[in-house]
Amino acid sequence: MMRTRFAPSPTGFMHIGNLRTALFGYLLARRMGGVFALRIEDTDIGRYVPEALDKIYETLKIAGIKHDEGPDIGGNYGPYVQSERKDSYLKQAEALIELGAAYYCICAPGEEACNCRAAGLARPEGPYAIRQLIPPGQTTFSDLVYGEITVENSELEDQVLIKQDGMPTYNFANVVDDHFMAITHVLRGSEYLPSTPKYNLLYEAFGWPIPTYVHLPLILSADGGKLSKRRGDAFFEDFLEKGFLPEAIVNYIVLLGWSPPDNREIYTLAELEQVFGIEGLSKAPSTFDLAKLKWMNGEYFKAMSGKNFEPLAAPYLAAAVKREDINRSALSLMVKDRIATLLEIREILDFIDVLPEYGADLFMNKKNKSTPETAKDMLSKLLPEMEAFPAENWESGAIYKFLTDFAEAQGVKNSLVLWPIRCALSGKESSPGGATELLNVFGKNESVARIKQALEVL
Ligand code: GLU
Repeated sequence: MMRTRFAPSPTGFMHIGNLRTALFGYLLARRMGGVFALRIEDTDIGRYVPEALDKIYETLKIAGIKHDEGPDIGGNYGPYVQSERKDSYLKQAEALIELGAAYYCICAPGEEACNCRAAGLARPEGPYAIRQLIPPGQTTFSDLVYGEITVENSELEDQVLIKQDGMPTYNFANVVDDHFMAITHVLRGSEYLPSTPKYNLLYEAFGWPIPTYVHLPLILSADGGKLSKRRGDAFFEDFLEKGFLPEAIVNYIVLLGWSPPDNREIYTLAELEQVFGIEGLSKAPSTFDLAKLKWMNGEYFKAMSGKNFEPLAAPYLAAAVKREDINRSALSLMVKDRIATLLEIREILDFIDVLPEYGADLFMNKKNKSTPETAKDMLSKLLPEMEAFPAENWESGAIYKFLTDFAEAQGVKNSLVLWPIRCALSGKESSPGGATELLNVFGKNESVARIKQALEVL
């Protein structure tokens, strides 16, 4: 059975690259009917950030990734939090010394030239580390994405397995755990590719089966560099804060380095669980395209019902519009299909609370042949009829009928009526809604007031 795992280190926020690793491991296990485990790699005390642990759990939850084994869930080999199992790594390192593949080292941490390898020390009295003994020769390993890779062992250093503080290094604990957790497929970022030959030598020395490696290429930013904290494109949270939907972020991230079997791009997580596969992985680095993510996010809003969108938009609408006489449901519906992110709500609604100042030339429109004169003519004839319109019937359908009946009675095209209304209500050349939507949002009183204001300008 296929067994994958996600092995994050709690060092801060969830990096987009790590989230992708988690997603790929999760999706692959789901697709193959396997197991997806979560393991917390927290043995590097210097880099440990306590809140980061909650961030990991929270991110996985928001992203919809559920682990089958790991913290709080159990499994055959647990708990999957490395700091809780430090003695077992020491035992394995000592077994490796017995096998001639490791040695005690009493050099100060960071000291390079070390005689301990040749000395073959028995367990020292004072502080010691345990290092891997890299044998002469070559090491070859194969990776499902990168193919076969061979390195000269002379290029590999005798890395520390157990540090002087008794903690295993990340590299050692990782191998021991992957073995005892019976991980069959190791998915991780390509930055770990150079360490892989050393892992292989450890597996070989123990006589353990070597897992299948699946290293994932880098995700680059548009300028070809790394995703960056400063630019705000490195972490999952950055995008949540900018008003992207978790589903859209997840959908987009899965397409970084993986091509779906058909040309479709919009997938729910459940659908991805059916189609994701190693065949679609590429070894070319992928580029994070913010414009594409925005497009995708907008598509998610469009696909959503007005009812589901309303609670998501509510806090952003509250920040954008303070007036209380506004029809908030209508407003929410009006912006739904016109934004890429929730943060944009504020920008596009800047005319609701305060009508922008404008001049008569706003009403010029070559396409529908509106001029300030036609606008004045239409609005002045419309105004008394609008004032007579019963306020209790003020809703989109009835408003639209009223406007088109009016245009017909005047013997003009609809646009000659709708266009000046839209300008009068928004005070802008372009607005997120058309005349009917804006009238519905503003309600009768404010609509009448804004049309009167327009007539003063015209
Ligand atoms: N703890 C490593 C990280 O934070 C995981 C490496 C691996 O998956 O083997 O990226």
